[in-house]
Amino acid sequence: MSDVRNVIIIGSGPAGYTAALYTARASLKPLVFEGAVTAGGALMNTTDVENFPGFQDGIMGPELMDNMRAQAERFGAELIPDDVVAVDLTGEIKTVTDTAGTVHRAKAVIVTTGSQHRKLGLPNEDALSGRGVSWCATCDGFFFKDQDIAVVGGGDTAMEEATFLSRFAKSVTIVHRRDSLRASKAMQERAFADPKIKFAWDSEVAAVQGEKKLSGLTLRNTKTGETSELAVTGLFIAVGHDPRTELFKGQLDLDDEGYLQVEAPSTRTNLSGVFGAGDVVDHTYRQAITAAGTGCSAALDAERFLAALS
Ligand code: FAD
Repeated sequence: MSDVRNVIIIGSGPAGYTAALYTARASLKPLVFEGAVTAGGALMNTTDVENFPGFQDGIMGPELMDNMRAQAERFGAELIPDDVVAVDLTGEIKTVTDTAGTVHRAKAVIVTTGSQHRKLGLPNEDALSGRGVSWCATCDGFFFKDQDIAVVGGGDTAMEEATFLSRFAKSVTIVHRRDSLRASKAMQERAFADPKIKFAWDSEVAAVQGEKKLSGLTLRNTKTGETSELAVTGLFIAVGHDPRTELFKGQLDLDDEGYLQVEAPSTRTNLSGVFGAGDVVDHTYRQAITAAGTGCSAALDAERFLAALS
């Protein structure tokens, strides 16, 4: 079984590269599938990252990911910028198939495929990401001190983001398609009681304005179709995330929202030799540092699993 790897890592964000660094330094020669289009993960789409420890002046997202990649490579991780399109994780030897149809075999697999934030689907949305448009209040709230901003969504996440952002912002307008919220009563009450939070009911974002930076939104009333302008310099989109677990359905246990389930505090999944880390598991914290932290845990769990086999 000379072609059987010790470990294959699927995904290349902070979780995948950290798992690669640790398993490489443990001489396990990991093979990492980085993804075809989005190698480096979610931080490749952002500008300043100010909350990853160790970078006093902050660091650009792509530069942070290039550093993580190079650090994993330095210790012998083998990186392939390709997607995994099929897996069989049920047996002792796991198989992972790439887009060319080549089957790779390994004794352990670490899943770090991340999650995709839902978008509004507007033309300017991606271009203004990191330039006023954000999906993470914890990450970016600080940049919006004393500014007028908007949050789109009506669930718990939207209320949590809005109440968090009101600490920094001059005003926060929650834009919601309906005339009542989906969020829990407690979260709603906190938002209603906050003097800085306003509501644009029965409204959706019809357009995102701005060339290099967000300058405002066009809102459309969902009942009357009327449009109006909202002058804001920040837009936080909180309409949900989709964990990338399609590949694993029917093999790995997923929760109701499709997140990979692990035996916390370990990273073990329901299948022996398969571990999960980062945002594909986590719907609570969703930070680069927590993804890197659980990537480290998954590598150590895999290392111990492999040691017990020999
Ligand atoms: P990801 O970074 O999402 O990486 C997953 C990887 O898996 C991707 O590269 C993808 O291509 C790959 N993949 C998926 N499916 C497959 C497959 N089938 N085959 C091969 N590869 C696959 N966090 C902070 O702490 N600070 C910030 O300032 C910050 N800013 C952010 C700004 C933006 C715009 C966004 C979107 C997020 C931001 N975050 C920030 C959150 C942070 O990026 C995530 O929490 C973190 O990247 C999650 O890491 P991960 O490794 O779990 O997944």
